[in-house]
Amino acid sequence: MDDQKKSYGCCIAGGGPAGMMLGLLLARAGVDVLVLEKHADFLRDFRGDTIHPSTLQVMHELGLIEPFLALPHQEVQVLGAQVGGVFVPIADFTHLPTRCKFLALMPQWDFLDFLVGHARRYPSFSLWMRAEAQGLIEENGRVVGLEVMTPEGKRDVRANLVVGADGRHSLVRAQAGFRVRELGAPMDVLWFRLSRRPGDPQNTMGQFDPGRIFVLINRDSHWQCAFVIPKGGFEGMRAGPVESFRERVATVAPWAADRVGELASWDDVKLLTVRVDRLERWYRPGLLCIGDAAHAMSPVGGVGINLALQDAVAAANLLAGPLAQWLQVQVQQRIIAPVLGRSASIRPPLLLRLLDRYPFLRRIPARLIGLGIRPEHVRSPIAPHR
Ligand SMILES: Cc1cc2nc3c(=O)[nH]c(=O)nc-3n(C[C@H](O)[C@H](O)[C@H](O)COP(=O)(O)OP(=O)(O)OC[C@H]3O[C@@H](n4cnc5c(N)ncnc54)[C@H](O)[C@@H]3O)c2cc1C
Repeated sequence: MDDQKKSYGCCIAGGGPAGMMLGLLLARAGVDVLVLEKHADFLRDFRGDTIHPSTLQVMHELGLIEPFLALPHQEVQVLGAQVGGVFVPIADFTHLPTRCKFLALMPQWDFLDFLVGHARRYPSFSLWMRAEAQGLIEENGRVVGLEVMTPEGKRDVRANLVVGADGRHSLVRAQAGFRVRELGAPMDVLWFRLSRRPGDPQNTMGQFDPGRIFVLINRDSHWQCAFVIPKGGFEGMRAGPVESFRERVATVAPWAADRVGELASWDDVKLLTVRVDRLERWYRPGLLCIGDAAHAMSPVGGVGINLALQDAVAAANLLAGPLAQWLQVQVQQRIIAPVLGRSASIRPPLLLRLLDRYPFLRRIPARLIGLGIRPEHVRSPIAPHR
């Protein structure tokens, strides 16, 4: 930890995708930047591991795509859904006007470690781990720094600009008094792992059956599984035995029935409460919020990380978050809520049947999921690095 430096150009609370990318970009542009991360490492499971073509394009523009793709990852060219027993390809990324025409699946800690490794090449970059922002320092109506708890005790960090990139439960945004607009989400997600075995399906896919939505992400050695449930339903499930959940999983994915026993107890099932909200205003004098701190994203489309990164690239893109959230809310209201509410058999809705019938239409969702509405491009100047 740098003890000497008392003031920074920018101090970023939160070393997630948004904060770490912003830290890299600012350091690359020669700005004296400090990133604060409250955890000791990035090793947390189920943080969202989808790196979309728009993010890969940013890595390409930074000149980092080759070393990045040398890290272990899987490439997904077509995303599909299993609806009432019918597989429907939804998004075909192979026609995107980007360097990488696929979505990369990579553990988020590898991605963050990679960003940190490259940010550290710039002398103006500092990262404090186990450093938790606990309060804003304000003078004359302007935010001028953060109170930070570190292993060595409490520190005041002063900066020309403070950035809240501290995620959906952002302390920065709460302390700044920003007004939050809740957009609502009808579901929560249960995450767990199941092993992969020879003969399993190859695709990363979502399965939509009456009353159930199950997303399976192929991680080579295992399936990363997301079981979507109606909001607030987990407490009731947890009151019963885990065996009943195993049965539900085996019913929706019969080919996995031979391994649902890997869910030994409810401890193997992690609840993530889905939330979609956004700040009515993202800034105050001396302060900016980006990523989930500005607009908490639902897992729909797996675009949260990528929008957080786009925020970092744009530094304050006022439109991308709200527009992408509008799309997520449409998907939640028109597809997820009706499926969760059904008990009879279902067939793919007209839109999905059209996607199945006319392959060129799959380029549209691929563009929305893979690139977003308004992809950002790296334009900042480059400082000399180590
Ligand atoms: C169930 C679920 C699944 C999802 N799956 C995907 C997916 O597959 N793909 C996808 O793209 N998106 C997914 N998302 C959305 C995605 O997780 C977020 O949109 C994305 O992580 C936002 O990045 P961020 O950097 O803004 O915030 P975060 O990723 O939340 O990072 C914030 C960081 O700040 C740190 N922090 C918090 N408070 C403080 C503090 N006071 N001081 C210092 N550090 C602090 C945290 O430890 C964390 O490292 C999912 C969301 C949910 C709920």
